[in-house]
Amino acid sequence: MENCKNCQTTFEGHYCNHCGQRKNEGRIYFDDVKNDFFTYFTDLSSPLNKTLKGLLTNPGKLIKTYIKGKRKSYYQPVQFFVLAVAFYYFMRFITGYDPVATGYLISGTPMPSPENMTLQEQASAFMSKHV
Ligand SMILES: [Zn+2]
Repeated sequence: MENCKNCQTTFEGHYCNHCGQRKNEGRIYFDDVKNDFFTYFTDLSSPLNKTLKGLLTNPGKLIKTYIKGKRKSYYQPVQFFVLAVAFYYFMRFITGYDPVATGYLISGTPMPSPENMTLQEQASAFMSKHV
């Protein structure tokens, strides 16, 4: 019998049956962190991967399911938004690709002056320039 360090529930086995925390094995090793990282991103049943798959294959079903209350299986919307924005800017930094500027280049239309931009275009131009 162990006492969970997170919720103080007494349990047997490798995980707390109340909160799901792993049995405290003492020191944290680099291999543990590495395994947790790869498991998090490669486990197909993880909330992140289930959310990505749902958004790509059937976003309406995912949203309805989430609204009806099945939430533990999926990534939380605000966290997912923050992660997606961070991923976008990371990829933009790595590749140097700016979809806003490239969109104007591809369409052949000149980038409008700030006075003639819609509010959305002004926000996009501001974010592209300053973030
Ligand atoms: Zn616990």
